[in-house]
Amino acid sequence: MNLLLFGAPGTGKGTQSAYLTTSYKLRHISTGNLFRKALQEKTELGLKAQSYMDQGKLVPDSIVIGLIKEVLTGLSLNLSNDEGTEKKSYKGFILDGFPRTLVQAQSLDVLLVDVDLQLDKVLYLKVPEEVLIERIVGRRVAEKSGHVYHIKFNPPEKEGICDKTAEKLIHRNDDKEEVVKQRLKAYHDQTAPLIKYYYHKNILFELDGCGSPEEVFSRIQKELGSV
Ligand code: AMP
Repeated sequence: MNLLLFGAPGTGKGTQSAYLTTSYKLRHISTGNLFRKALQEKTELGLKAQSYMDQGKLVPDSIVIGLIKEVLTGLSLNLSNDEGTEKKSYKGFILDGFPRTLVQAQSLDVLLVDVDLQLDKVLYLKVPEEVLIERIVGRRVAEKSGHVYHIKFNPPEKEGICDKTAEKLIHRNDDKEEVVKQRLKAYHDQTAPLIKYYYHKNILFELDGCGSPEEVFSRIQKELGSV
């Protein structure tokens, strides 16, 4: 089963992906995470993406599509490989944060044909805008381990410190209010039109993204059924 988790920044795509990867054995593909990792490692890709990310703007299509092409090609080899690699146990993938423009969505369609894979469902998480802003601005992350907290909804035991790894928690640059507003604008202008695109393909499933992560996940499970 190959899924796309779709929604504005802060709708919980990352959180739900974590539940999905474990329960359904899916490989999580997050372009945001890939860019952040590249940035930490100071690779050319990371440095190219940084200024766009810091301003809450979308990274240019050509860069994102090049990246996703590499990932999907590798993935298709792993999924179809019968040799004893750990990765062959994946039963599919979840795209999180890609595609974000019409050009990216069209390129994804072409890429999927090339690697002989298909997108089965697009899960569209809907959350009102004021909730999104509060969720994102209060988010704190442990950069290395990726653990995520919220100053109000899920605070760490000791302020500013990860419960699990004792790393210092950071407030991501692009989680600051001015940048969040720009990210939401990019979503409305460039990404929201994809709702129609997937609706017409008959694979769009709209879900309420409000409530606790567990509540949202149980709505997703209902939609996916037992796989
Ligand atoms: P995310 O963690 O998915 O919200 O992504 C963080 C940032 O990475 C975004 O605000 C963009 O600057 C960049 N980014 C991630 N995915 C894409 C994409 N598919 N297209 C363009 N930019 C992206």
